[in-house]
Amino acid sequence: MATSRARAAVGVVAIGLALAPFALAAAGSSIGQGAAVATTAERGSMTRMWDPAFPGPYEISVGESALGRPIKAVNRRGSLDVSRTVVAIGVIHGDERHGRLVTDQLMTVPLPEDLDLWIVPTVNPDGEVLGLRQNARGIDLNRNWPANWETGTFFSSGKYYSGPSPASEPETQAMMQFLESIDPDVTIWYHSPWNRVDCNVPRVGRACQDYATAVGAWTAFAPRPGTATDWMMTSGLGVSFVYEFAWSAPSSAAVRDHVNAVLALRTS
Ligand SMILES: [Zn+2]
Repeated sequence: MATSRARAAVGVVAIGLALAPFALAAAGSSIGQGAAVATTAERGSMTRMWDPAFPGPYEISVGESALGRPIKAVNRRGSLDVSRTVVAIGVIHGDERHGRLVTDQLMTVPLPEDLDLWIVPTVNPDGEVLGLRQNARGIDLNRNWPANWETGTFFSSGKYYSGPSPASEPETQAMMQFLESIDPDVTIWYHSPWNRVDCNVPRVGRACQDYATAVGAWTAFAPRPGTATDWMMTSGLGVSFVYEFAWSAPSSAAVRDHVNAVLALRTS
């Protein structure tokens, strides 16, 4: 869950007070007390420092893509007394973009009071612009993480190119630092087109089961090398799993189900 260490580790920018009607708890927060808030010197564009008495939203600069496009995260808290940190990541493969429909709505939907929500619309802005699965350097960002990373024939080039070395890509490095700094409880990554929850059920536990039930999906697990979820699970960064949309765009009702399923994610 969120810690003062986490808040101190990332620069934050408040992005306005009018995004959502927050249900504010009474003064006093279990997080951030004594936090050494980032200073304007750490981030020149900062308009407001992180404040334990302000629930957000805050926009965070996670890093930059290979071509220098920004990778951003938005933090929203349902109250000043949150108890679970959830991350939703809309896009990692640039040609699999349905997750943005979910992250867009998460920007404004009312939150449960106990939820500390981080929204990352995309970790692969170059791939999205270029219409590529991979990043601008031709590397599959979901084979590049330093957990069971593989190279060799299958991953040394082409669609699933894992990169010249583990975590070789700026997008991967930026997200590793970001995820370590916020230390989430549950992280969901959106993909296409397999139309299921891709989850190691015994390892992830109720989060993926609950999610599958909420969106009417079935679960399966296909281990692959160098994935973000595997790196998170082996790094002690909570539980992490994938939802695979179909190739076709989900209905608005389906997107609402996904939004509500994200808001309900918990580990116990
Ligand atoms: Zn994918």
